[in-house]
Amino acid sequence: MSEILNLTAPPTTQSIEYRIRAAEQLIRQELEQTQGDVCVTNSFQAEDMIVLHIVRQTLPDVPVIFLDTGYHFAEVYEYRDRMAQAWSMNLINLLPELTVPEQEARFGILNQSDPSRCCGLRKVKPLFAALDRYELWFTGLRREQAKSRAALQPVEDFALPTARTIRKINPLTEWTAKDVWDYARQNDITLLRLYDDGYSSIGCEPCTRLPLDPNDPRSGRWGGRKQECGIHLQST
Ligand code: SF4
Repeated sequence: MSEILNLTAPPTTQSIEYRIRAAEQLIRQELEQTQGDVCVTNSFQAEDMIVLHIVRQTLPDVPVIFLDTGYHFAEVYEYRDRMAQAWSMNLINLLPELTVPEQEARFGILNQSDPSRCCGLRKVKPLFAALDRYELWFTGLRREQAKSRAALQPVEDFALPTARTIRKINPLTEWTAKDVWDYARQNDITLLRLYDDGYSSIGCEPCTRLPLDPNDPRSGRWGGRKQECGIHLQST
Protein backbone atom coordinates (compact mmCIF):
# COMPACT_ATOMS: atom_id res chain seq x y z
CA MET A 1 0.00 0.00 0.00
CA SER A 2 1.43 3.43 -0.88
CA GLU A 3 2.14 5.91 1.88
CA ILE A 4 -0.46 8.69 2.27
CA LEU A 5 1.28 12.05 2.70
CA ASN A 6 -0.15 14.93 4.69
CA LEU A 7 -0.05 17.74 2.12
CA THR A 8 -0.89 20.36 4.75
CA ALA A 9 2.12 19.60 7.02
CA PRO A 10 4.22 22.69 7.86
CA PRO A 11 6.95 23.26 5.24
CA THR A 12 9.66 23.54 7.89
CA THR A 13 9.24 19.88 8.76
CA GLN A 14 9.53 18.78 5.16
CA SER A 15 12.53 17.70 3.15
CA ILE A 16 12.87 18.11 -0.59
CA GLU A 17 12.30 14.36 -0.86
CA TYR A 18 9.01 14.74 1.02
CA ARG A 19 7.87 17.60 -1.19
CA ILE A 20 8.75 15.70 -4.36
CA ARG A 21 6.82 12.65 -3.21
CA ALA A 22 3.87 14.82 -2.17
CA ALA A 23 3.78 16.52 -5.58
CA GLU A 24 4.05 13.19 -7.39
CA GLN A 25 1.30 11.69 -5.25
CA LEU A 26 -1.05 14.64 -5.73
CA ILE A 27 -0.56 14.59 -9.50
CA ARG A 28 -1.05 10.82 -9.70
CA GLN A 29 -4.21 10.95 -7.58
CA GLU A 30 -5.75 13.77 -9.60
CA LEU A 31 -4.98 12.04 -12.90
CA GLU A 32 -6.47 8.78 -11.64
CA GLN A 33 -9.65 10.43 -10.41
CA THR A 34 -10.48 12.78 -13.27
CA GLN A 35 -12.97 11.81 -15.95
CA GLY A 36 -12.21 14.83 -18.11
CA ASP A 37 -9.46 16.47 -20.11
CA VAL A 38 -6.23 17.61 -18.48
CA CYS A 39 -3.78 20.39 -19.35
CA VAL A 40 -0.64 22.05 -18.00
CA THR A 41 0.03 25.74 -18.53
CA ASN A 42 3.66 26.45 -19.21
CA SER A 43 5.43 29.80 -19.45
CA PHE A 44 8.67 27.81 -19.77
CA GLN A 45 9.84 29.03 -16.39
CA ALA A 46 11.49 26.50 -14.08
CA GLU A 47 8.42 25.63 -11.99
CA ASP A 48 6.24 24.91 -15.01
CA MET A 49 8.91 22.65 -16.49
CA ILE A 50 9.04 20.64 -13.24
CA VAL A 51 5.28 20.18 -12.97
CA LEU A 52 5.22 19.16 -16.62
CA HIS A 53 8.10 16.74 -16.02
CA ILE A 54 6.13 15.01 -13.24
CA VAL A 55 2.77 15.00 -15.07
CA ARG A 56 4.43 13.49 -18.14
CA GLN A 57 5.53 10.48 -16.08
CA THR A 58 1.86 9.45 -16.14
CA LEU A 59 0.55 11.36 -19.15
CA PRO A 60 3.37 11.91 -21.69
CA ASP A 61 1.13 13.62 -24.26
CA VAL A 62 -0.57 16.01 -21.84
CA PRO A 63 -1.53 19.26 -23.64
CA VAL A 64 0.95 22.02 -22.77
CA ILE A 65 -0.58 25.48 -23.10
CA PHE A 66 1.82 28.36 -23.81
CA LEU A 67 0.40 31.89 -23.87
CA ASP A 68 2.13 33.35 -26.90
CA THR A 69 1.62 37.05 -26.27
CA GLY A 70 4.05 38.02 -29.02
CA TYR A 71 6.04 39.99 -26.44
CA HIS A 72 8.26 37.21 -25.03
CA PHE A 73 12.04 37.34 -24.95
CA ALA A 74 13.73 35.76 -27.99
CA GLU A 75 15.39 33.40 -25.47
CA VAL A 76 11.97 32.17 -24.33
CA TYR A 77 10.85 31.37 -27.86
CA GLU A 78 14.13 29.59 -28.57
CA TYR A 79 13.88 27.59 -25.31
CA ARG A 80 10.20 26.76 -25.95
CA ASP A 81 11.01 25.35 -29.38
CA ARG A 82 14.08 23.46 -28.20
CA MET A 83 12.36 21.85 -25.21
CA ALA A 84 9.15 21.13 -27.11
CA GLN A 85 11.18 19.16 -29.61
CA ALA A 86 13.41 17.47 -27.03
CA TRP A 87 10.42 16.34 -24.92
CA SER A 88 8.08 15.69 -27.89
CA MET A 89 5.61 18.01 -26.19
CA ASN A 90 1.97 18.24 -27.16
CA LEU A 91 2.37 22.02 -27.34
CA ILE A 92 -0.62 24.32 -27.75
CA ASN A 93 0.64 27.75 -28.75
CA LEU A 94 -2.22 30.00 -27.69
CA LEU A 95 -2.51 33.27 -29.61
CA PRO A 96 -4.57 36.34 -28.71
CA GLU A 97 -7.25 37.66 -31.07
CA LEU A 98 -5.05 40.53 -32.28
CA THR A 99 -1.43 40.35 -33.41
CA VAL A 100 1.01 42.72 -31.69
CA PRO A 101 1.00 45.19 -34.66
CA GLU A 102 -2.82 45.10 -34.80
CA GLN A 103 -3.17 45.76 -31.08
CA GLU A 104 -0.58 48.54 -31.08
CA ALA A 105 -2.22 50.20 -34.12
CA ARG A 106 -5.61 50.09 -32.44
CA PHE A 107 -4.81 50.81 -28.79
CA GLY A 108 -1.19 52.00 -28.65
CA ILE A 109 1.46 50.41 -26.43
CA LEU A 110 -0.84 49.02 -23.75
CA ASN A 111 1.99 47.39 -21.82
CA GLN A 112 3.04 50.95 -20.97
CA SER A 113 -0.30 52.75 -20.78
CA ASP A 114 -2.55 50.02 -19.38
CA PRO A 115 -0.74 46.73 -18.63
CA SER A 116 -3.80 45.17 -17.01
CA ARG A 117 -5.75 45.63 -20.23
CA CYS A 118 -2.83 44.27 -22.25
CA CYS A 119 -2.61 41.18 -20.01
CA GLY A 120 -6.37 40.81 -20.26
CA LEU A 121 -6.28 40.78 -24.06
CA ARG A 122 -3.12 38.72 -24.55
CA LYS A 123 -3.18 36.31 -21.61
CA VAL A 124 -6.34 36.15 -19.51
CA LYS A 125 -9.01 36.14 -22.22
CA PRO A 126 -7.36 33.54 -24.49
CA LEU A 127 -6.44 31.27 -21.59
CA PHE A 128 -9.86 31.29 -19.93
CA ALA A 129 -11.48 30.53 -23.30
CA ALA A 130 -9.05 27.63 -23.85
CA LEU A 131 -9.52 26.24 -20.33
CA ASP A 132 -13.24 25.82 -20.87
CA ARG A 133 -12.74 22.38 -22.44
CA TYR A 134 -10.64 21.02 -19.56
CA GLU A 135 -11.51 19.58 -16.15
CA LEU A 136 -8.04 19.62 -14.60
CA TRP A 137 -5.48 22.41 -14.87
CA PHE A 138 -1.93 21.95 -13.52
CA THR A 139 0.21 25.00 -12.71
CA GLY A 140 3.70 25.59 -11.30
CA LEU A 141 2.63 28.24 -8.77
CA ARG A 142 4.42 28.43 -5.41
CA ARG A 143 3.43 30.35 -2.26
CA GLU A 144 6.91 31.74 -1.87
CA GLN A 145 6.80 33.51 -5.25
CA ALA A 146 4.75 36.53 -4.13
CA LYS A 147 2.55 37.91 -1.37
CA SER A 148 -0.37 37.51 -3.75
CA ARG A 149 0.29 33.75 -3.70
CA ALA A 150 0.72 33.35 0.08
CA ALA A 151 -2.65 31.63 0.54
CA LEU A 152 -2.27 29.32 -2.45
CA GLN A 153 -3.72 25.82 -1.95
CA PRO A 154 -2.56 22.61 -3.68
CA VAL A 155 -6.10 22.05 -5.00
CA GLU A 156 -8.46 24.91 -5.80
CA ASP A 157 -11.79 25.25 -7.54
CA PHE A 158 -11.44 27.79 -10.32
CA ALA A 159 -14.44 29.58 -11.82
CA LEU A 160 -14.24 30.41 -15.50
CA PRO A 161 -16.16 33.31 -17.07
CA THR A 162 -18.58 30.76 -18.53
CA ALA A 163 -19.51 29.86 -14.91
CA ARG A 164 -17.92 26.42 -15.30
CA THR A 165 -15.66 25.44 -12.41
CA ILE A 166 -12.54 23.39 -13.04
CA ARG A 167 -9.95 21.93 -10.67
CA LYS A 168 -6.73 23.91 -10.54
CA ILE A 169 -3.85 21.83 -9.15
CA ASN A 170 -0.72 23.54 -7.81
CA PRO A 171 1.62 20.65 -6.85
CA LEU A 172 4.56 22.91 -5.95
CA THR A 173 2.61 25.07 -3.49
CA GLU A 174 5.09 24.61 -0.64
CA TRP A 175 8.28 24.25 -2.66
CA THR A 176 11.14 26.69 -2.14
CA ALA A 177 13.24 28.12 -4.96
CA LYS A 178 16.05 25.80 -3.85
CA ASP A 179 13.73 22.79 -4.20
CA VAL A 180 13.00 23.85 -7.78
CA TRP A 181 16.67 24.15 -8.69
CA ASP A 182 17.57 20.91 -6.88
CA TYR A 183 14.85 19.01 -8.72
CA ALA A 184 15.94 20.42 -12.08
CA ARG A 185 19.55 19.48 -11.38
CA GLN A 186 18.69 15.97 -10.14
CA ASN A 187 16.60 15.33 -13.25
CA ASP A 188 18.89 17.00 -15.80
CA ILE A 189 16.27 19.54 -16.79
CA THR A 190 17.88 22.37 -18.73
CA LEU A 191 16.42 25.70 -17.61
CA LEU A 192 15.90 29.00 -19.39
CA ARG A 193 19.21 30.77 -19.88
CA LEU A 194 17.78 34.09 -18.63
CA TYR A 195 18.05 32.83 -15.04
CA ASP A 196 21.82 32.96 -15.47
CA ASP A 197 21.49 36.70 -16.19
CA GLY A 198 19.85 37.28 -12.80
CA TYR A 199 16.15 37.15 -13.66
CA SER A 200 14.09 35.40 -10.99
CA SER A 201 10.65 35.65 -12.66
CA ILE A 202 10.33 35.85 -16.42
CA GLY A 203 7.30 37.08 -18.34
CA CYS A 204 6.93 39.30 -21.40
CA GLU A 205 10.09 41.24 -22.25
CA PRO A 206 8.64 44.79 -21.93
CA CYS A 207 7.32 43.97 -18.44
CA THR A 208 10.25 42.02 -17.02
CA ARG A 209 13.30 43.51 -15.31
CA LEU A 210 15.88 42.12 -12.92
CA PRO A 211 14.31 41.91 -9.43
CA LEU A 212 14.23 45.26 -7.60
CA ASP A 213 14.14 43.47 -4.23
CA PRO A 214 16.30 40.33 -3.84
CA ASN A 215 13.76 38.97 -1.35
CA ASP A 216 10.86 39.38 -3.77
CA PRO A 217 11.34 37.25 -6.89
CA ARG A 218 8.51 38.96 -8.78
CA SER A 219 9.63 42.52 -7.96
CA GLY A 220 11.00 42.95 -11.47
CA ARG A 221 7.64 42.34 -13.09
CA TRP A 222 5.63 45.32 -14.41
CA GLY A 223 8.10 47.75 -12.79
CA GLY A 224 6.43 47.10 -9.44
CA ARG A 225 3.08 48.43 -10.75
CA LYS A 226 1.33 45.11 -10.20
CA GLN A 227 2.15 41.54 -9.21
CA GLU A 228 -0.19 39.36 -11.27
CA CYS A 229 -1.32 39.34 -14.87
CA GLY A 230 -4.84 38.36 -13.78
CA ILE A 231 -4.84 34.67 -14.58
CA HIS A 232 -4.32 33.59 -10.99
CA LEU A 233 -6.65 36.02 -9.26
CA GLN A 234 -9.99 34.30 -9.73
CA SER A 235 -9.83 31.21 -7.59
CA THR A 236 -12.98 30.61 -5.56
S1 SF4 B 1 3.03 41.01 -19.41
FE1 SF4 B 1 3.20 43.03 -20.41
S2 SF4 B 1 3.37 42.65 -22.63
FE2 SF4 B 1 2.72 40.73 -21.64
S3 SF4 B 1 0.54 40.72 -21.87
FE3 SF4 B 1 0.95 41.65 -19.85
S4 SF4 B 1 1.18 43.88 -20.17
FE4 SF4 B 1 1.21 42.85 -22.20
